[in-house]
Amino acid sequence: MKGSFVIQLTKLEDGLNRLDFDIDNSFFENLEYAKVKEVEGKLVVEIEKSESTHKLWLQVHTKVRLSCDRCNELIFIPVNNKHKLVIKQTDEEVTYEDEDIITLGKNKSEFDLAPIIYDIINISIPLKVSCDIEGAEKKCDEELLAKLNNTESENNEKEIDPRWEKLKILKNN
Ligand SMILES: [Zn+2]
Repeated sequence: MKGSFVIQLTKLEDGLNRLDFDIDNSFFENLEYAKVKEVEGKLVVEIEKSESTHKLWLQVHTKVRLSCDRCNELIFIPVNNKHKLVIKQTDEEVTYEDEDIITLGKNKSEFDLAPIIYDIINISIPLKVSCDIEGAEKKCDEELLAKLNNTESENNEKEIDPRWEKLKILKNN
């Protein structure tokens, strides 16, 4: 199903399973996270199932569209990460030290990976987004940046044109 990251646990076979999911814009549509404008990519999940335990290996391969902190252009940058996770099905109340072990009631047949994928992508986005990031779609327009900087310093000495003021606010966001 498009946009769904729900795993049907009961449909898995004992042993190793592999599931592929597409990650697209619909993933962030209903989430209030304005920073990500666009995302495209895939999620590969390998699951080793044995009785009441599921071991999951998640691989996120995406391109996320964000605005460059320097030139403000919207660019695609690669966002990739891996995550390991264990789901234990039990009706007993147990707490594990390891936060990557999740408990689920024995009668539960589904597990939604969406919140985990959301976290993985968010954590993997660099704090400083710029065209200098390896694998970024393009480089900053240095000429334009230089021009902007020049005009800014000229204007600082004189009266500030309100249009530049607006631009500065944009740049600082
Ligand atoms: Zn840039």
